[in-house]
Amino acid sequence: MAARDAAQSAVGQGVVQVALARFPRENVAISGNSTEFVRVGDSGGHAKFHFCPVCGSTVFYEIGGHEAFVGVPVGAFADPGFPAPRVSVYEERMHSWVAPPPGAERIP
Ligand SMILES: [Zn+2]
Repeated sequence: MAARDAAQSAVGQGVVQVALARFPRENVAISGNSTEFVRVGDSGGHAKFHFCPVCGSTVFYEIGGHEAFVGVPVGAFADPGFPAPRVSVYEERMHSWVAPPPGAERIP
């Protein structure tokens, strides 16, 4: 995957902070098995999360209405040079001590 093409965001998912990278679907090859869980957001939208059936790690996700993209948690990449998120969302729920990446677009 081309990390430079990723539209990244940090969102809350029942954890304090998570960084997700979004890639054009045509640039993603998915193989192997995953367990699915569909989460309904506050706005009624759906997000389908795919988990490793062995360890439970989120391996990728899909957002309803944005089928052209596949999301991957940045932590799934063994790359300490992975670029920082460019967008920070759900900040109205953010803990006071969480610091969005410098220069990130901030969406309440
Ligand atoms: Zn696993």
